[in-house]
Amino acid sequence: MTAPAAPASFPEAALAARWAAGVAGPLRLEDGRGLRVVFPGTPAGGSGPDFTGAILDAGGDLLRGDVEIHLRASGWRRHGHATDVAYGGVVLHVAAVNDEPGAFTFHRSGRLIPVLVLEAEPPRTAFPPPFTPPCAIRTARGQAPGDVLERMGLRRLRIKAARVSPAVAAHGPAQALYALVLETLGGGANREPFAALARRLPLALLLETGRLAGVSRTMALGAALKGAAAPLALRRAGLRPMASPGRRLESAAALISRWWPEGATPGWPAALGAGITWKDASAAGIGRATAIEVTVNAILPVALASGVIPVADVEAAWRALPSPGTYGRLARLQSWLGGEHNPPFTSASRLQGGLLLHGDYCTRGACGRCPFSG
Ligand code: SF4
Repeated sequence: MTAPAAPASFPEAALAARWAAGVAGPLRLEDGRGLRVVFPGTPAGGSGPDFTGAILDAGGDLLRGDVEIHLRASGWRRHGHATDVAYGGVVLHVAAVNDEPGAFTFHRSGRLIPVLVLEAEPPRTAFPPPFTPPCAIRTARGQAPGDVLERMGLRRLRIKAARVSPAVAAHGPAQALYALVLETLGGGANREPFAALARRLPLALLLETGRLAGVSRTMALGAALKGAAAPLALRRAGLRPMASPGRRLESAAALISRWWPEGATPGWPAALGAGITWKDASAAGIGRATAIEVTVNAILPVALASGVIPVADVEAAWRALPSPGTYGRLARLQSWLGGEHNPPFTSASRLQGGLLLHGDYCTRGACGRCPFSG
C-alpha cells in the first residue's frame, strides 16, 4: 500500500482527464498486480461512476465494468459509494492518494475493488538519465539486445491488437482495417480527420458508391473519398506534397482498389492471407516505409484481433518485416543498445520493441526496472 501523502494540489478533473486520455503502462495496483488499460471506459457524466464500460487486464484477469476516480481513496467511503447500488459495477478505484489502510475498496455487495494510485500528471523524469544506464552496461558486456527487443515488439503487436479489438467486434475486420489504413495514411497531421472519414464513409458504402462511368476504379474511389472528406478540417500547411491530404487519399484509393477489386464484397481482402509481407500494402503513392507502417499499424493488428490469419502466421509475418528506418527520439537508446556499428533496430518488430521500451520505461525513469536491467 502507498503511504498517505499530502493533499493533492490539483483538481479531480485533472486526474479524470489523465485517465480518459489512456494511461500507458507499467502500472501497478495497490495489491501488487500489474495493470494494463485496454479501454479506459466512457466518461459517464451525471451521477454514478465516472467511467463506464472499461476493459482492464489486472495481472491476467480481464475486468470489464466501471471506474471511479477520487483524489483520495477515502472519498469512496465519505461519499457513501460503499452502500450505493449504482457503484456495484465498479471494477477499479483510481485515486491520487491511497489514504485508506487496505489495498482494496469495499462495496457492500461483498466485492473487493482493486485500487490504482495515479498522479494527475505523468512523472517528469530526465531522459537521458544522468548516469550510464544498465542497458548500455549490458551491451558493453556483449549481451545482444535482439531477443528482448523481439519480445517487446511482439508485446506491442498484442497491444495494438487489443486496442483495435472493440472496433473489430463492432464493425468487422474489413472496416477496422480500412479505418486503420486511413489513420496511418493521415499521419501525424491528419490522423483524426482521416479516422472521422472512415466513420463518415464506411468501407461498404465506399465500395458501393465508388463507381464512375469512364474512369478507373482508383480514380472513382479517390473522388468518393475526397468528396466525403471535403467538410472535414484537414491540415495542409507545412506538409510535403506527397503528404498532402489529397495525395494521401489518392494513395488510399489505390490500395483499396488493389485489395477490393471491382465486384469484391466488403469482407477481409482475399489478397491478405498467411505469408503476408509489406509488399501487400504497397500501391501507387505508398512507398516501402509507408507500406511497412500500414502492415505494422493496420493489417497485422486487425488480423491478430480478428483471427482471419492464424496467430503463428501473423507473428511470423511481424518478425519478418524489415525496419522502415528509425525515429529521432530513439537515437540515445539506439546508441546504448549497439550504436551505428551494431544497430539494434534491424527489423520493424525490434523497432516497435524499442518504441515500447522508450515510452513505458526510459522516459518514465524506469532504469533498474526495465527488461534490460536484470
Ligand atoms: S529504462 Fe532500460 S532501456 Fe531505457 S535507458 Fe534505462 S536501462 Fe536503458
